[in-house]
Amino acid sequence: MGGMPRACASLLAVLLLTIPALATVRAQFDTQAWLVPTEPLRIAGPVHYVGTRELAAYLIATPAGHILIDGALPASAGDLERSIVALGFRLEDVKVLLTTQAHFDHVGTLAQLKARTRGRLLVMDGDQTLLASGGATDYLFATTPGAHFPPVTADEVIHDGHRVTLGGVSLQAHLTPGHTPGTTTWTTTIADHGKAYRVVFTGSTGVNSGTRFVKDPSYPGILQDYRKAFRVLESLQPDIFLAAHSGQFDLAGKRARAATEGATAFVDPDGYRRALATSKATFERLVDAER
Ligand SMILES: [Zn+2]
Repeated sequence: MGGMPRACASLLAVLLLTIPALATVRAQFDTQAWLVPTEPLRIAGPVHYVGTRELAAYLIATPAGHILIDGALPASAGDLERSIVALGFRLEDVKVLLTTQAHFDHVGTLAQLKARTRGRLLVMDGDQTLLASGGATDYLFATTPGAHFPPVTADEVIHDGHRVTLGGVSLQAHLTPGHTPGTTTWTTTIADHGKAYRVVFTGSTGVNSGTRFVKDPSYPGILQDYRKAFRVLESLQPDIFLAAHSGQFDLAGKRARAATEGATAFVDPDGYRRALATSKATFERLVDAER
């Protein structure tokens, strides 16, 4: 009986290490569904959806180049690229890459897209080490290889209030920390058919299973960070709100109505308030449960 070739043996070792972790991640999150591609679409003015059916990625197209916010799981890089091209844009015109949170399901494609577009990656202070470590420094997923992603280095570390301006579009970064230490909400005002719309790309305030706020907190200050995030998000008054998961703002329903209504189908200030209130109630319940 011949021995197993060394490369094969080490691959097997990697698989054995990885599979239980992947199973854990899949049990916690339905990652298969997150990989399903979907038709890209224009939401309003220069704002386009180029993500998968569940995981959002937004392309803000301007005459001076484009801005991409977020980027789904690593395996979806090709699908995101195809969506950008299908809308009539060129990858090499993507000049700026932004994130809302450094988790594998939202920044998985960044390393590939950064290399392919040569766009500048701007990351909120607090998330740059998480991105550079490919998730290995995550306060929850550090030892979950299935939740790791190709590491990527920020070209610029930004801070609360930072503005990104390109081709007549101005985006402002708001630090809404907790979900990750540098979770970021982006706001802008765009025009569609002569009407102005305030648009918010919300940073997540979701609480992943295992997060601790009170006893032995997941990181020092996490409770205060989440409270700050809710304060900031409650102060915003978007006409259109967009989130990292399409289900959080009913992309499917709004997409269907947009076929006849256009951008107004996405105007949903009440939906924003409701989603925020639900998320805050869940957070407060979890904090109370720890006391
Ligand atoms: Zn997350």
